[in-house]
Amino acid sequence: MTDLPYFTDDHGRVREIVRHFADKEVRPIAREHDENSRFPWQTVKKMGELGFLGAPWPEVLGGAGMDYTSYLIIIEELAKVDASHAITVSAHTTLGTSPIMNFGTEEQKERFVPHLATGRVLGGFGLTEAGAGSDAGGTQTVAEEKSDHYVLNGAKLFITHAGVGEILLVTARTKSNGSKQSGGITSFIVTKDTVDLEETRALGIGHAEELVKTPGVRAGKKEDKLGWRSSDTRELILEDAIVPKENVLGEPGKGFVNFLKTLDSGRIGLGALSLGIAEGALNESVAYTSQRKQFGKPVASFQGVHFQLADMATEIEAARHLVYHAAWLLQNGKPYKREAAMAKLFASELAMRAAVTAVQLHGAYGYTTEYPVERMMRDAKVCEIGEGTSQIQRIVIARHLLGDIVPNLGS
Ligand SMILES: Cc1cc2nc3c(=O)[nH]c(=O)nc-3n(C[C@H](O)[C@H](O)[C@H](O)COP(=O)(O)OP(=O)(O)OC[C@H]3O[C@@H](n4cnc5c(N)ncnc54)[C@H](O)[C@@H]3O)c2cc1C
Repeated sequence: MTDLPYFTDDHGRVREIVRHFADKEVRPIAREHDENSRFPWQTVKKMGELGFLGAPWPEVLGGAGMDYTSYLIIIEELAKVDASHAITVSAHTTLGTSPIMNFGTEEQKERFVPHLATGRVLGGFGLTEAGAGSDAGGTQTVAEEKSDHYVLNGAKLFITHAGVGEILLVTARTKSNGSKQSGGITSFIVTKDTVDLEETRALGIGHAEELVKTPGVRAGKKEDKLGWRSSDTRELILEDAIVPKENVLGEPGKGFVNFLKTLDSGRIGLGALSLGIAEGALNESVAYTSQRKQFGKPVASFQGVHFQLADMATEIEAARHLVYHAAWLLQNGKPYKREAAMAKLFASELAMRAAVTAVQLHGAYGYTTEYPVERMMRDAKVCEIGEGTSQIQRIVIARHLLGDIVPNLGS
């Protein structure tokens, strides 16, 4: 792989460790977990021990003390082999932990982050609702203010880790006691048991006893998905959930704005994940077409195949530059909203194209579960939907070109 100026020797070492882990631990189980839509607790535990689930957080809070680029390398390398493992790391870290690191009080960081950063407990982020998808500001969940707590009612949809997770960050419209007036959208930290208590206890992870659970919070229906099948996606139900005021995350009324900032960095993570899928598809295509013979020659010897592989490799190189450039901007405290949207848009659409090409290059075998490219094709699709669809990324980019002519959708 070309060495970009963004990468140091330390990044190379991180890449080697993750690549080894993905090959030895993830590759052998990916297909079975996808087929049965089963969450991979055993490898998740190992990822916690290796520091993958707290990569960018300080060691005093249980993190691995790595930089943001290392964190993206972890996502990219996992996604080359299995996107479900990669999204587990990404959703847990960017969505489930970074809002506490970025907007939480010191007390909240000390109370929650060590559980999350060590990977003993999984986190998630609940913004989407039945009527609030791309229009995430359309939140209908309500938080009614009482003396020392809020009472939350509503349902979040398609929440990664709503089932397996124990610490979830949610948005709700706040209103004071008895008032019909909304005070804006506020975010809250809620806690619940994982749905897999027995399995996590057997593995010696989970903090069911230590974390005070929020009454009225529970996981709902599990989604039966096209891809990311071993990642956990469910409804999160808040039914008269009693959330103490010390669990308000960030300034009251600023929850939506803060979650949008979180999505900006999340988009770079999904860019890295998409880049990984595209690279995995290329690796599989090179290996298969080099050994598959037709007309007495390896399929890879035909010029029509060279063109397809060369196009994939070129677009992958372009996506790598976009993703790691956006990461460099973030890491160096520079504006990165436009670049994050571009990285996510380009890399996710590339992941889909590359995976479809990989299936084509595998012929009928590519259409079966014998080869991982059909899974890559199914996994790639959601990269164009989650954390802002491709259309929403284009709107973000167009706003940078055209300013207020493009309506501000809050995205
Ligand atoms: C596997 C998975 C995991 C997810 N995990 C999470 C999670 O952890 N937390 C969370 O909060 N959410 C999560 N989501 C939800 C995800 O963020 C939303 O699905 C996404 O934001 C799109 O919303 P929607 O599905 O309601 O689509 P809609 O907003 O209904 O969009 C439908 C179509 O209309 C298009 N569209 C909408 N508005 C416009 C416009 N103004 N201009 C042009 N086109 C437009 C969209 O691009 C799309 O093609 C997850 C979703 C999936 C599938």
